[in-house]
Amino acid sequence: MHDVSTDSEPRPLGPALRHALMGKCPKCGEARLFARFLKPVDRCPACGEAWQGHQADDFPAYLVILLLGHILVPLMIEVNFALSIPMGVQIALWPGLAIVLAAVLIQPAKGAVIAFQWSRRLHGFAGNGR
Ligand SMILES: [Zn+2]
Repeated sequence: MHDVSTDSEPRPLGPALRHALMGKCPKCGEARLFARFLKPVDRCPACGEAWQGHQADDFPAYLVILLLGHILVPLMIEVNFALSIPMGVQIALWPGLAIVLAAVLIQPAKGAVIAFQWSRRLHGFAGNGR
């Protein structure tokens, strides 16, 4: 059952983000946040916080695209400046690296968005007792 007295408890952003970036529950950091790759658990088995109310939508993907652009473009410029990698190799290298990095970053990005929404009591985390 949901404890109404917890609704006014502080929700510090720093620890919530740290837990979520590790794939843990933003509230307690004890249990896993994700049941599947990008599907959060309905409720944290450790602290009982409900996570199905998040509305991360496409924002984690936008964050990953923004991050990848700022990682890959300078890297491509520096690598091309320092080394002479054949174009045929680069055609496979950069998109492959982009796919791998996107797959690595998308879950932490989604966790961070959920943690931010929870911490700021946005959307499904308004603390209305549901
Ligand atoms: Zn928890």
